[in-house]
Amino acid sequence: QYKIYYIMQFISNFFCFTYSCIYSFISNTIDDDEFSVSALIEKANANIGMLLMFGDIVVHTGLRNADPCTARDCLWPKSSDGNVYVPYRISNEYSQKERDIIMEGLRSFSRSTCIRFTRRERQRDFLDIQSRSGCYSSVGRRDGGQVLSLQRSGCVYHHVIQHELLHALGFNHEQTRSDRDEHVRIVLENVKCGKEHNFRKIEDSRNLDTPYDYGSLMHYGRYFFSRNGQPTIVPVPDPDVCIGTARQMSPTDILRVNRLYACSTKKFDLLIPQ
Ligand SMILES: [Zn+2]
Repeated sequence: QYKIYYIMQFISNFFCFTYSCIYSFISNTIDDDEFSVSALIEKANANIGMLLMFGDIVVHTGLRNADPCTARDCLWPKSSDGNVYVPYRISNEYSQKERDIIMEGLRSFSRSTCIRFTRRERQRDFLDIQSRSGCYSSVGRRDGGQVLSLQRSGCVYHHVIQHELLHALGFNHEQTRSDRDEHVRIVLENVKCGKEHNFRKIEDSRNLDTPYDYGSLMHYGRYFFSRNGQPTIVPVPDPDVCIGTARQMSPTDILRVNRLYACSTKKFDLLIPQ
C-alpha cells in the first residue's frame, strides 16, 4: 500500500522537480504559469463585479471570510451505503464537448473517493453548474441550489473543474492554511493594489492531519495577482519548488476528501496512505 503511494509521489515529485529546474533555468517568467489553475481563474475572473474572496470563492452575506467549512454545517450528507451523493444540474448552455469535460470532472471523484455526483432530481441542495462570468464556487454545501460557475470560455478545463468541485466539497486554498508561513512567503509588495485580502490566512483551518502540499490542486501559482510580474507566493526555504502546477488532484487532495467525508478507504488503499 505504502509502496505504490510513494512510487506515485516519487514520480510526481520527479516531474515536479524536473519542471521546476527547467522552469527556473530557462525563463522563470509569468508565461510558464499561464495554464495553471490560478492563472486561468485570475484571467477568467478579472472583470467580475461580484465579491469574490481568495480569487474564486463566493462571499456570502454575514460571512466576510472563508471560514473553515467545518465551523458550520456545510458538509454534504453521507448516505447509509457509505457514499456521499452530491446532486448537480448542468446548464444546457454548454456544448456537448464542454458537457463531456464537466461530466468527466464529476466522475473523476468516484474513482478515488466516496463522493458521487449525481444528477439532481428533487433534492433541495444541489450544485447548479452554469456558465456565468468567471470560475467560482462556494466553500461547502449551502442551502438550496448553489451556483458553481464554469464560464464557457476560460473555465472548462479538467483541473479547474476539479478545483471548483473541491471548494464545493468544503476545501479552501492550500496557501490559506494556518501553517502556510512555514512553507510559503507571501510577497505583498508584488500584489496588485486592492487584492491583498486574497492572501489572508485562515488561522483555524482544519488541516486533517495532512502535510502542507505544494502539489495540491488547491495551491495557487507564484504569480497570482501579481502587479509587476514578480512572484507573490514564494516557497520557503527552497524557492525553486514548483507550486500551482497541478493538473489534477494530488494524492493528498484525495486523502483529504476521504478524511473529511470519512470514506471507507479500503477501496482506495492503493491511492492513499493510511
Ligand atoms: Zn479556488
